[in-house]
Amino acid sequence: MTQDCLFCKIANQLIPADIVFEDEQVIAFRDISPQAPVHQIVIPRRHITTINDVTTEDRALLGHMLFTATRLAAEQNLSEPGYRLIMNCNQDGGQTVFHIHMHLLGGRQLTHLG
Ligand code: AMP
Ligand code: ZN
Repeated sequence: MTQDCLFCKIANQLIPADIVFEDEQVIAFRDISPQAPVHQIVIPRRHITTINDVTTEDRALLGHMLFTATRLAAEQNLSEPGYRLIMNCNQDGGQTVFHIHMHLLGGRQLTHLG
């Protein structure tokens, strides 16, 4: 656990979150400021600061985050209508919490990028 990391604190239940899924590798919880009817965050339990910092050893973990997000989407009947998965990186990417995470957004028509 990294001191003063918000998502490490959530992963270690030091601050509360509305958890929708957890296993030995990842935790998923509702975003505190939802941008869509479904807005959930999938994080690894282990602290990784940005997606620039992943190594080849993290490949399975990243795959598991993606798999977790698609399964959460399916459970909420988003597979057919669709949804969006986002990982923001550093300042230009809009990253505000420096513990890697995947956003799952759905339940409304999302605007086209660009
Ligand atoms: P990003 O901007 O990609 O770093 O995303 C960080 C996300 O974490 C934002 O969508 C925030 O609304 C969300 N967030 C911040 N604090 C909390 C919290 N305590 N519980 C749940 N989500 C949070
Ligand atoms: Zn962390």
